[in-house]
Amino acid sequence: MTGRDFIKHILAIHREVKSGITWRKLIMLYSKLYIDLGWYVLPCYGLVELEPGRLVCSCGNPECPSPGKHPRTLNGVYGATNDINVIANYLELDPFMNIAIATGERSGILAIDIDNLDVVDRFKSQFEIPDDVLAQKTGKGKHYLFKYPEDWNGNGLPNRVGEAEVKGNGRYIMICPAKHIKGVIYKLENLEKIGKKENLLADLPPKLKEAIEKGGVKKNDADYNYLVSFSGSGISKIAKLTYVPKGKKNPVTEVRLFVPDGAKVSKNHAEFLYKCTINALVICNIPEAVIVRVVKEVMKIFCDSEILEQVIIKEVRRQKGNLINYIGKTVDLSSGTIPEGSRNNTLFSIGCVLKETLVGEHLIGAILWIINREMCKPPLNAREVSSIARSITNYVVNRVFRNATF
Ligand SMILES: [Zn+2]
Repeated sequence: MTGRDFIKHILAIHREVKSGITWRKLIMLYSKLYIDLGWYVLPCYGLVELEPGRLVCSCGNPECPSPGKHPRTLNGVYGATNDINVIANYLELDPFMNIAIATGERSGILAIDIDNLDVVDRFKSQFEIPDDVLAQKTGKGKHYLFKYPEDWNGNGLPNRVGEAEVKGNGRYIMICPAKHIKGVIYKLENLEKIGKKENLLADLPPKLKEAIEKGGVKKNDADYNYLVSFSGSGISKIAKLTYVPKGKKNPVTEVRLFVPDGAKVSKNHAEFLYKCTINALVICNIPEAVIVRVVKEVMKIFCDSEILEQVIIKEVRRQKGNLINYIGKTVDLSSGTIPEGSRNNTLFSIGCVLKETLVGEHLIGAILWIINREMCKPPLNAREVSSIARSITNYVVNRVFRNATF
């Protein structure tokens, strides 16, 4: 969307506001606009006016440390959505709800958060931020919204640069028309100038980008590209593996989906792919919301197809119902995060569960890469994830597939 189109939409919303609309409608209009921009909207608790001039957080805690600005979603910022129906459902739950935007690669936004108006000018001139950048007035300071640099892989972003907070992956900013506890509303600025521009979001000014990179941000490397770009002519195969387990008399047959590197998954294997992926993630007790994101992305990459969230959730719940035997046998990731110190081992364990039904270095690598991005705090770099996928796949191919018949 061009800056011009964006302003047209904003003006249309302003007209509706003038004619009088409910908070619910207002939140829906803005959410729709942000989703159309490709941004992920995060439902947050809102503010309720208990008595004139006295706002409290709609979470119900009168002592709430973060009134009107913490996520309503169970998995925090990772619950940010690009589905307007999800926003509508949350509004049913909380008609006072505020909204935020998940920053980082998902929305393609790098936000700079300066929480003190007194330092805004100094910061702006220090890092040469132009006057026509999309900005937002917050309760105490200002946000600047930039395009997330394409040559960053999202790892190692520093939390601060100078006097500002840097917000990328795993972070969020409250967004217009959210209400601030001070009674003011988050307000987008520089709209007139934005309206004359081709791109809504500007690139980071070189000085600012350099300063953030000095703080340790990682650049894309070859491995990363290798993991996310899949093209090629190979096709997937269903591999049947028949063998007699130790101590047993009768042979068993295992079926695995074999996806050669660079290959897409053929249409008739698509269901097998998503069911097996779900199965492995359910066994690892990975939260439903993460499973949904992983499966959606895997289907997009390997099958060029969209899969409905409801289909995934239904399958997750069906499989969970059948799973009693597995519990305790594998990793438990129900907390939704993989902390530093256990990232390598945990991703390796997940990969080992995946390899029971899926084979292929690119495939395992891509699934682990998405899980790494969603759950590891902070994420491992691409090289490390690739090497886990490689060692798992080598093991399968050398030990198990050596005698397989296709
Ligand atoms: Zn609260």
